[in-house]
Amino acid sequence: MRTDVLGVGFDDLTIDEAVSFATECIENRRSDFVVTPNPEIVWRCRKEPELKQALTGAGLVLPDGIGVVYGAKILGRPLKGKVAGIDFAAKLMEVLSVSGKSVFLFGSKPGVAKKAAEKLKETYKGLVIAGTADGYFRDDGPIIDQINKAKPDFLMVCLGAPKQECWMASNKEKLDIGIMAGLGGSLDVFAGTVARAPISWQKLHLEWLFRLVKEPRRITRMIKLPLFLFAVIGLRIRGK
Ligand code: UDP
Repeated sequence: MRTDVLGVGFDDLTIDEAVSFATECIENRRSDFVVTPNPEIVWRCRKEPELKQALTGAGLVLPDGIGVVYGAKILGRPLKGKVAGIDFAAKLMEVLSVSGKSVFLFGSKPGVAKKAAEKLKETYKGLVIAGTADGYFRDDGPIIDQINKAKPDFLMVCLGAPKQECWMASNKEKLDIGIMAGLGGSLDVFAGTVARAPISWQKLHLEWLFRLVKEPRRITRMIKLPLFLFAVIGLRIRGK
């Protein structure tokens, strides 16, 4: 059973358990998908039924953001902890590199996925890069054909939310892959074009603040975090 946080069900897993789920999908070529909603996405689900349906249909729903973890705690149903999408992807690639399995990098601006491929090959020796494609395309068809020709074990889908969640939900049946995950700006970080918060900031759960300082335009998105927390506290007070 999933843990409900404002209508979105989360899987209560550690990062290792999430990676085990993914490797099992890969062994069985399940073409399943992983989503990693943060409070902003949970908040958007209240008014975007297509997004909510996509999350519900995912094989794995991981809490990407300390806000979701706090929210679950306030509601009296604590989760084991935050599982950031980028950490999940890194750990999965580490495991896949040992067995010579492959990853396809899909999304971000032209050139970013190729740059990320070079960096990932250096970090995870043995990892096979099955292909790359940027995230600015008109039709799904040619992209799906390209992915299916490459038959990757793991497909990183980095189109930003909610595009990536809806894309995975509507194309799952057409894809010949092991597993895929919606990972937002992860390719930008792996490519080195966007910096991730230093470990000390991550440990203090201030990754969101680092991103805000780097990209102040994010304020319009991040304003949803207090709205999310007020709604959670309101539910708790009303005893729901
Ligand atoms: N992106 C894309 N296609 C689009 C819109 C966005 O490939 O049509 C990419 C964008 O270039 C960026 C990523 O999706 O690499 C979204 O990054 P962001 O940091 O906004 O995502 P978050 O991690 O916050 O969900």
